[in-house]
Amino acid sequence: MLHYAAADGPPSKDLFEWLGGSLFTFPYKDGTRTVRLKRVLFRSNGIIGRGTIVVRVECNCDHCDGHCDWYGKKLILKLSFPSETRVSEQTFMDRCKALAQGDHAWVLNHLPHIYWTFDVCFQVNTPQANFKKRFKDDYEMRLMRGSIQEELEPLSSLETSKDCAQVFYDVVQCHHWALKYPKILHRDISQGNIMVREKDGEKYGVLNDWDLSSWVNEQRDGPTSKFRTGTKPYMAHEQHSHDWQGPHRFRHDLESLFYVILLLVCLYPSPSAKYTAPMSPAQDFEYEEWHKQDDSFLVAKKSLVINAHAWTPIVFPFFLGFTMWLINLQRALRYGFFALGYHEDFLRLGKQSKSFDQDTLDNHFSYETVVSTMHRFSEEELKTRGSEWQEILLRLQPI
Ligand SMILES: [Zn+2]
Repeated sequence: MLHYAAADGPPSKDLFEWLGGSLFTFPYKDGTRTVRLKRVLFRSNGIIGRGTIVVRVECNCDHCDGHCDWYGKKLILKLSFPSETRVSEQTFMDRCKALAQGDHAWVLNHLPHIYWTFDVCFQVNTPQANFKKRFKDDYEMRLMRGSIQEELEPLSSLETSKDCAQVFYDVVQCHHWALKYPKILHRDISQGNIMVREKDGEKYGVLNDWDLSSWVNEQRDGPTSKFRTGTKPYMAHEQHSHDWQGPHRFRHDLESLFYVILLLVCLYPSPSAKYTAPMSPAQDFEYEEWHKQDDSFLVAKKSLVINAHAWTPIVFPFFLGFTMWLINLQRALRYGFFALGYHEDFLRLGKQSKSFDQDTLDNHFSYETVVSTMHRFSEEELKTRGSEWQEILLRLQPI
């Protein structure tokens, strides 16, 4: 029971609880459609601004015997509760699909496939309408947004470290494409949002969950709170600081990917293994705390990693090939933030300084630096999906 009248402020948590049950009916075209709920695959926690639930479902329509458009598809139902004004994942994916033609078609293997999406607005006299009346602009109206999507496999389904590397590399290529062509910034890179699609015997890394994304040209508007998106252990270190004013840049997402890899390879003996207690005192288990602690802890720990000289992560043997990746990425971040600090000191002293590219930390931490590390894993070339990066790599590599 929600006592909005007695509340001191707007509620921080979502007002809606998943009630369960075996069938779920939602608006579909001119009528409704019903799916049978099978298993909860994901429930978010610690994510700012939303609560998401992902459930495996199967279609429960009257003609689901081969005549249904969802027949034979592995389906999930995703429910989230975004603010009314948030652009839907479907809108972003429609834009991607429109541009993923010809030379760009490869990217479709790396994006989620959304079959249907619906919004349910809440009526007057609900608790949230009453909160809105009482707290006006301090309270964002939310709606229930649902979508039926293709079920993808989690990272834990991967069996070799090279497959993991390919999936991470795929995600970078997809992220770059989305930024450059449809001009979408993902803004929520986390372990749970990197998925795997198996198609014709090949595995593809999928950058999933575009619910917190934004159009690049709308990035610089709006309050700072709107920039501060992401999943805590993986957020870029600057974003944990109260002084941080945004905007969210693509390098913040690349920094998140660095933490996704770091935490995976330092905390798990293999992708499918559960986290276990340290096997030896040498094992670096400080990262376990990253899943539990607050902003001040995380900004301090992440700054320590970025600023460390001669930094070498202690990874599980299964993931040994990632050591060089992490060393290279950390070095790129360290040089970049060193350059940024130097630049800011210059400005503080009122000196004229040359321009500084904030997006790439003056080219120290760019897509090029990340790709030039990640296109190869343990001396083996990974698959570079689009002709654009294939050509760039030819230029970057000494012949
Ligand atoms: Zn059906």
